[in-house]
Amino acid sequence: MNDPCPVCGLILQREEGYFLGAMYVSYTIGTILVGGGFFLAQWLFPQAGDFAVIGGVVFLYLLMTPAVFRYARAIWIYFDRWGCLEDTSAGPYEKARVLELTESTCNSDRPASN
Ligand SMILES: [Zn+2]
Repeated sequence: MNDPCPVCGLILQREEGYFLGAMYVSYTIGTILVGGGFFLAQWLFPQAGDFAVIGGVVFLYLLMTPAVFRYARAIWIYFDRWGCLEDTSAGPYEKARVLELTESTCNSDRPASN
């Protein structure tokens, strides 16, 4: 995962363990997809057994795991930033990362003679 965002410069990981909250989002998405997929598959294939339906739905869900992983993180970032759009709530890790990034940017822009 890029940190910071290459487009807008947003520091994605605000602190150590920041994306632990994304696990709750991922769990919710997974429950909706697998649960909804189970009932949809039962409706579409009424003669199929429950274990075949569950196996098929879980297999399809495993194929979607990379997308669920990314969207869970994006939703978590939106949820977190919803409360505070600015960086006034930045923790020590985020502040240190901002400083680190600005120093490296300034040093790379500076001519070698300075
Ligand atoms: Zn961005």
